[in-house]
Amino acid sequence: MTRVIAVVNQKGGVGKTTTSVNLAAALAQAGERVLLIDLDPQGNATMGSGIDKAKTTRTVYHVLLGLAEAAAVCVRSERGGFDLLPSNRELAGAEIELVDLPNREGRLKAALATLGERYAFVIVDCPPSLSLLTVNALTAAQQVIIPMQCEYYALEGLSDLVGTIKRVRAHLNPTLDIAGLLRTMYDPRSTLTQQVSQQLESHFGAKVYRTLVPRNVRLAEAPSYGTPAVVWDPASKGAQAYAAFAAEILERERGAGAAQPQAVGEGT
Ligand code: ATP
Ligand code: MG
Repeated sequence: MTRVIAVVNQKGGVGKTTTSVNLAAALAQAGERVLLIDLDPQGNATMGSGIDKAKTTRTVYHVLLGLAEAAAVCVRSERGGFDLLPSNRELAGAEIELVDLPNREGRLKAALATLGERYAFVIVDCPPSLSLLTVNALTAAQQVIIPMQCEYYALEGLSDLVGTIKRVRAHLNPTLDIAGLLRTMYDPRSTLTQQVSQQLESHFGAKVYRTLVPRNVRLAEAPSYGTPAVVWDPASKGAQAYAAFAAEILERERGAGAAQPQAVGEGT
């Protein structure tokens, strides 16, 4: 069965896109068939996959509005090794245009159904809002990954997100599950990072992924080369963390037992 994973946090700049692009590429490197969906009008996941959003005429916008088939809009990210449903600023209009359409929350899910079992994993990079686009992702997904930066305000807003997930579960998608919280931009030298990280572990227990994604310059540089960091510099600490994260997801998927926490340090 295709595993649809939404990468969600309405907070901006917490690492959703970095996680989506590198998870997609790392799963592809592990031999999985992967589709990455850029559900953000910013088009960052599209650019980070090496596809020029300005030159892309058909996007996920056309799919959501029923103007094109998903399979016809998918493009290949050669560098990432996965397929991509691209996005650009046109998608911003979908928010308003979808409101009057039937099944407005379920349009992404319906589009994915047309792809059958083509992919083992579909990763959905969401915009920084709890908008209708995000609700479409939550309706289509079985699982949610929440990237979180371990800083003072990290937990603020989490209750709104959990509330949205609960409402989607109650009305639209009963089997939706929070797969886990991923700590991003982790700085082991910061006491605050460690405190917030421990707070997350005590609140959410096994829902916190073992993998820690360090703050790593290669992760920030890779998008400017249109190449996921796990492909561009696989030896970097950031790339290694995302490879470990993909392995953790595959391990959970296969139902393997838990192992010891894994820290990935600083540096490149
Ligand atoms: P938005 O809410 O705008 O969509 P986002 O949650 O998708 O943002 P990203 O775009 O992934 O967040 O990351 C925000 C910025 O931080 C980007 O410039 C990215 O390159 C950088 N960044 C992300 N993760 C890391 C990391 N682990 N180390 C260093 N820089 C990072
Ligand atoms: Mg983003």
